[in-house]
Amino acid sequence: MRSAAVRLTQIDGKLPNLALMKLAHWHKSLGDDVVFTKHVERGLYEPEYKTVYGSAIFSYSADRVAVFKEQFPNAIVGGTWNLSNLSTVEQMIGQEEYEHYDYSIYAAFDASIGFTQRGCRLKCGFCVVPKKEGKPRSVNTIYEIWRGGTYPKHLHLLDNDFFGQPEDQWRARLNEILDGGFKVCLNQGINIRLITEAAARAIAQVPYYDDSFRARRLYTAWDNLKDEKIFMRGVERLDGAGVPPSHLLVYMLVGFDESETWERLFYRFNKMVSLGIRPYPMIFGSRAKTLPLGGMNAAIAGRTLGEFQRWVIRKAYRFVPFEEYDVNARGRLTIGQGNLFEVAA
Ligand code: SF4
Repeated sequence: MRSAAVRLTQIDGKLPNLALMKLAHWHKSLGDDVVFTKHVERGLYEPEYKTVYGSAIFSYSADRVAVFKEQFPNAIVGGTWNLSNLSTVEQMIGQEEYEHYDYSIYAAFDASIGFTQRGCRLKCGFCVVPKKEGKPRSVNTIYEIWRGGTYPKHLHLLDNDFFGQPEDQWRARLNEILDGGFKVCLNQGINIRLITEAAARAIAQVPYYDDSFRARRLYTAWDNLKDEKIFMRGVERLDGAGVPPSHLLVYMLVGFDESETWERLFYRFNKMVSLGIRPYPMIFGSRAKTLPLGGMNAAIAGRTLGEFQRWVIRKAYRFVPFEEYDVNARGRLTIGQGNLFEVAA
C-alpha cells in the first residue's frame, strides 16, 4: 500500500537536481508517492504532505527559500545556497552511499547527469564544495553515469574540479568519452587556474558542448580580479592547445569582494569581451546590491548587480552601453531606451 505523498521542490536551477532525484528514488523505494514541483508557494488544492523537501543551489535564491519556508514551515531545505548548510542526502536518509536517481521526475530530460569526481583542490571563500566534499576523488565512470540503451550520449558532468582527480582517472574518463562517442557539458566549469598544458591538450580533443549540446562551449570561472595573471595563463594554454577563447563561457562572481567597484568589475568584463570570451555574472547575495563607482561614469551610479547580470547574460552590451540600458523597456531595441531582454537565470 502506498503511503502519504512527499513533496520535492526544486527552488532554483535549470538542470535536473540530483539530490531531489535521489530523494525521489529513496521515497519511492519506501512506497511513498512523490510529488515534484518548482513552485515554492503552496497551491490552492495541495494536500498536507508527510515530508516536504526543498533544494536551492544559488545564494541569490534566499528570497525564494524564505517564501518556501513560510509556506512549508516544517520543510527540510538543502543545497548549496547557504554556506552553513552542509548536510547531504545520504546523511538525511541515514545511508553511507546512495547512488540511485529517479529520472522520471524530469520526464522531458533525455540526457544523463552525474559526477565523475567530487571535491576540489582549491578553497574559495564563497564556495561550499571543499567544505562539503573535501579533496578531489573519482566517483563514477562515464558508463556509470550514462543511462544506456537508446538514451542520447549526452552527458552533463557536474564535476567541480574534473582535472583534480588523479591523472590516470581523468584520462580514463576522457578516453571513455572519446571512444564511446559522447558529447559532454562540463557546466560547473573546469578549474582554469590549475590547468596544465597536458590537461589543456586533452580537453581540446573532447566534444565539449553547451547545455543544449549544440554550441561548442567550455565553462570556467574568473571570480577575483587578483587572479588575472593566472586566469590569462589558463586562457592562453587552452588557446594554444586548440580551445579558442570564443568557446569559453566564464562565470564571473560579483558582489562578494569587499573592495569591488564598478570600475574593477568592468575591468574583468571588458578584458574577457575583448578576447571574445563570453562572461556570465554570478551574483553573490542580493541582486539589488549596487557598487561604488571607482573611476566609472556617474551615469551608472545606483545601478544594481541584477541589472548588470541581465545586460551581460542577454548580450545587451553588444547593442547598448550599460548606462543607457533600460531593463524594464519592452519592444524594439532603441539605443538609449533599453531593450526587450528578460533574464531567465
Ligand atoms: S575552484 Fe570552484 S569548486 Fe573549487 S573552491 Fe573554488 S569555486 Fe569552489
